[in-house]
Amino acid sequence: MRIIEGEEIYKLVKKLIEDANFDLPLSILNALKRAKEEEENPNAKIVLDILIKNAEIAKEKRIPICQDCGMVIIFLEKGEEVCIKGPLEEYLKKAVREAYLENFLRSSVVKDPLLRENTNDNTPPIIHWEIMPGDKIKISVMIKGFGSENASTVKMLNPTLEKEEIVREVINHVKEYGPNACPPLIIGLGIGGTMEKAIYLSKKAIFRDLYERNKKPHLRELEEEILDKVNSLNIGPGGLGGKTTALDVRIEDYPTHIAGLPLAINLQCCAIRFKEIEI
Ligand code: SF4
Repeated sequence: MRIIEGEEIYKLVKKLIEDANFDLPLSILNALKRAKEEEENPNAKIVLDILIKNAEIAKEKRIPICQDCGMVIIFLEKGEEVCIKGPLEEYLKKAVREAYLENFLRSSVVKDPLLRENTNDNTPPIIHWEIMPGDKIKISVMIKGFGSENASTVKMLNPTLEKEEIVREVINHVKEYGPNACPPLIIGLGIGGTMEKAIYLSKKAIFRDLYERNKKPHLRELEEEILDKVNSLNIGPGGLGGKTTALDVRIEDYPTHIAGLPLAINLQCCAIRFKEIEI
């Protein structure tokens, strides 16, 4: 059994949180630059230019990509042959607390959803666990702002729906909520499982490499069809028109019940903040 000190995880997670807040993934920055070249709408070009400059300044000066420094979501995929020593949840909270306080990142989390008192250190994070074979741990950190979180949803669809109707559900949702989610978006779709599994998949989909399609041919086709249709909506960057409403659409799926067809639609805004490490 491999033993990993909780202290080590805390240091890694703190660094991932800081880097995610300041450093837009290079693949996304390059996609914004490519979109700017290809856009014909002048407003879209201006918005993309601002987003590119914003990302470059944030990286250079180590300041947040967005004023909404979000809620921290931590995905831990732990190998069966690894043991983590110490109170891991406390270490993860400490990582969030120190990353936010030391870097003056906005604290956006309230203790109680109804009483609304700020925790003042952005704790607690949302933590998802998965057990995997092997002796490694993969840690993925996502910073999710609530402009795009509020624009995300899960729908429990009728299992007899045809593919065209599923596409229509997604397009109608993006038409209504996409402009509020700070496009250009990455759209993560979780199909199948149960209600919460579909949402989990739609979040995990955001970590996939840009333009990496689903390996299943019918899902790959669906990703491409939805991406084309979303980009024909003329929502565009910042909702000001153009053909770059989404940079990518990713679908993750899971077996489901004969009587159900869960569909989670996770709209990820242009402040795409995630970092991963495997140890
Ligand atoms: S939706 Fe994203 S880009 Fe818009 S304010 Fe929130 S975190 Fe920032």
